[in-house]
Amino acid sequence: MDFSLSSEQTMMVDATRRMVAEDIEPVLAANNPDKPLPKPAALAILQAASRMGITAARLPQAEGGAGLSALDYGLICEQLPTMAAFLIQCQETAVLRLHYGSNPEQRKRFLPDLIAGKRIATTATTEPDGGSDPRGTRTTAVDQGDHVVVNGNKMWITNGSIADIVNVTCRRGGPNDGRNLMRVVIDRDESPFEAREIDVIGMRQSHLAEMVFDNCRVPKANCFGESGDAAKILTVTWLAGRCLLGLAAVNLATRAFEATRAYAGVRKQFGTYIGGFQLVQQGLSDMETAIVASRLLCYNALSAIDRGERANGLSAMAKRFTIDSCDRAIAIGMRLHGAMGLSRELGIERLARDVRMLSIPDGTPEILTLIHGREITGLDAFRPTASESKPRR
Ligand SMILES: Cc1cc2nc3c(=O)[nH]c(=O)nc-3n(C[C@H](O)[C@H](O)[C@H](O)COP(=O)(O)OP(=O)(O)OC[C@H]3O[C@@H](n4cnc5c(N)ncnc54)[C@H](O)[C@@H]3O)c2cc1C
Repeated sequence: MDFSLSSEQTMMVDATRRMVAEDIEPVLAANNPDKPLPKPAALAILQAASRMGITAARLPQAEGGAGLSALDYGLICEQLPTMAAFLIQCQETAVLRLHYGSNPEQRKRFLPDLIAGKRIATTATTEPDGGSDPRGTRTTAVDQGDHVVVNGNKMWITNGSIADIVNVTCRRGGPNDGRNLMRVVIDRDESPFEAREIDVIGMRQSHLAEMVFDNCRVPKANCFGESGDAAKILTVTWLAGRCLLGLAAVNLATRAFEATRAYAGVRKQFGTYIGGFQLVQQGLSDMETAIVASRLLCYNALSAIDRGERANGLSAMAKRFTIDSCDRAIAIGMRLHGAMGLSRELGIERLARDVRMLSIPDGTPEILTLIHGREITGLDAFRPTASESKPRR
């Protein structure tokens, strides 16, 4: 077992850091840190990501992607500022979801512009009344000649306000067993809809939106995959998604750790550097331990996904542990900065706000605990009547 990066992986990480310094940080710095990025700025970041091949990182090369493993993509995402990681991951995951089970005509129509970063895509599943339980989806898609008519509201959708293409999870009637969920891909130019930005505590340069589909007429040619496959596609892509969010938290905690280590080496109290106090060293030790343990859990789950293993428990474990540990590590870093940790001058408080945003998407800590618990016991605690719920022996 070798825990070191290969030379190719080291080159990839270095190239990503260069792209962040040259193409992403200047865009973020040129815009208001408290307001969602204007769409042209978001497109500029996606186009830089496209030049590196990471708007379609895991798509096979034959389909115009980079054909990267989930682990290599994770190594890249770990280097990205959180806002950019969210933007790029939302696009890349939408590209993968549009690719799975679609026909060649659909892929040709939608994927090239998304891969090139010319248009923005997102996936809209969550609704005002349905988050952790996507089977409760109420948005409907009803046949009407050569169109389907979509009605419903979506909530907390990343990039929802600036998206050109939205992969909407809709319901086709029937029981709430997940098998009646279908994917309708809405192109905003041909099927307009309303979206409004939601104001939140962290990642304030990101976009989070409520979307309203009011008798939105969509060509039937935009119904993707087999009717009823929406839940399956979402579940498959959530596995790596959890670890990618975990690695975004590792990025934030690492920045807090580096700032705290530097501060402990210059700040003096009682006539000596605070880094010399045993309790400050304990805080730094706790922070670094959280970062290393989190990183390894995420890499471990991504490697399992690459080996084709069922990584449901591993990815749930990785995300829950990582977000919680990195959140606590950042809180320690804030504390070790004294009052400076609370001021907006150093930006440590921003890391604390941003990490909170990562805990909810792709599974809340409670849901992830229950997913992991189901893997351990074979018993489903959130759907106790599910037929797959059998005790493990
Ligand atoms: C930054 C961000 C980005 C997002 N991006 C997207 C996106 O692009 N597309 C999209 O579709 N959605 C997106 N979401 C929505 C996200 O997926 C949901 O918010 C999430 O699934 C939780 O749903 P909810 O907010 O409705 O909370 P609820 O499901 O209402 O949960 C409320 C509380 O109850 C707990 N709970 C629920 N069920 C159980 C149970 N069985 N046992 C124990 N506790 C339980 C939860 O853990 C939580 O603490 C995003 C959210 C955020 C914050």
